[in-house]
Amino acid sequence: MVTATLIDGKQFAARLRAGIATHVAQLKADHGVTPGLAVVLVGEDPASQIYVRNKGLQAREAGMNSFEHRLPTTATPAELLAQIAELNRNPTVNGILVQLPLPKQIDPEAVIAAIAVDKDVDGFHPLNAGLLAVGGTAMIPCTPLGCLMLLKAYAGELAGQRAVVLGRSNIVGKPMAALLLREHCTVTLAHSRTRDLAEECRRADILVAAVGRPYMVKGDWIKPGATVIDVGINRIPTPDGKGRLAGDVDFATAVTVAGAITPVPGGVGPMTIACLLLNTLTAACRQWGLPVPDIQPVAE
Ligand code: NAP
Repeated sequence: MVTATLIDGKQFAARLRAGIATHVAQLKADHGVTPGLAVVLVGEDPASQIYVRNKGLQAREAGMNSFEHRLPTTATPAELLAQIAELNRNPTVNGILVQLPLPKQIDPEAVIAAIAVDKDVDGFHPLNAGLLAVGGTAMIPCTPLGCLMLLKAYAGELAGQRAVVLGRSNIVGKPMAALLLREHCTVTLAHSRTRDLAEECRRADILVAAVGRPYMVKGDWIKPGATVIDVGINRIPTPDGKGRLAGDVDFATAVTVAGAITPVPGGVGPMTIACLLLNTLTAACRQWGLPVPDIQPVAE
C-alpha cells in the first residue's frame, strides 16, 4: 500500500524557475541588469550536448543571458584555460559552467580551479567547497542544493532530525552532508566501507541516497515516516533497447514505508538545472552588491 507523499520535483522545479524569472525581471526593471550564464562544452559527447542545450534554454526562459562556447574534442588545456580567463574577466557573465566530463587530455581539477570563485555556479571550486564546510558564503553545488530545497519544503523542521547521506562524492554526498549539518541535523555520511548500511539507514529521519546503485535501498532499510530523497540516476537496459531510468532506492517497497519520497525520474533531476539558474541569480546579485533573493517554494 502506498503511504508516502510523492515529492513532485518536476512541478517544484517549475515553481522555483518561475520565482527566479520574477526576480530576474525585477532586477532588469529596478537596476537595468540581466544575469548571464556561460556554458563551455568541449567535444561532441551527445549527452553533454543535450545538457548544455537545456541549460541555455532554461536560462533564457528565466530571462537570463545565455552564452555557449564550444571547443573541439582536440582542444588543449591552454585553450580551455584561455576561454575561462576571458569569461572570468567578462562583466556580462555572472556564472560559468564547464560541462563535464572533459576529454582525457584535460585535467578537470585544474579547469575547475581556474574558474573565478564568485562565478563558479556549479560550486565545485575547492574554495567554495571549503567555504561551505566552514559555514561561509559559498556557491553550493546544484544537486545537493536542490535536495535541500525539497527537504525544507517536505521534511518539516530540519533542526534535530537524524539524517543519513548515502554516498560521499564531492559533488553530491559531501556537500549534502555539510548542508544538512548547517541546518542543524545530526548527520551520518555513509559509503562503501560503512558497516551494516541497512541499520544506519533505518535510524534516519531523512535519508538521501546518492550511490549510483539501482534499487539498493530497500523498503526495510527505511524508518517508517522518513523523508527519502533519491539522487540516483541509473540507466537500466530493457529488451526494446530504449532503457529506463532507475533510482538508488527500490521505490516499490520504499513508498509503503516512507513518509515522503522523490520518484526517479521526476524527483531530484529537474531540481539540478533549476538550482543552476538560482546560483546564477545569486552570483549576479553578489557581484552587483545587491541583496540575494530568498526563493524557497513550499510543498503543494
Ligand atoms: P560517485 O561519485 O560514483 O559516488 C558514489 C558514492 O556512493 C561513493 O561515495 C561510494 O562510496 C558510494 N557507494 C557506492 N557503492 C556503494 C555501496 N554498495 N554501498 C555504500 N556506498 C556505496 O557518484 P555521484 O556522482 O555522487 O552520483 C551518485 C548518483 O547520483 C548516481 O546515480 C548519479 O547518476 C546521480 N546523480 C544525479 C544527479 C541529479 O541531477 N539528479 C546529479 C549528480 C549525480 P566510496 O566513496 O566508499 O567509494
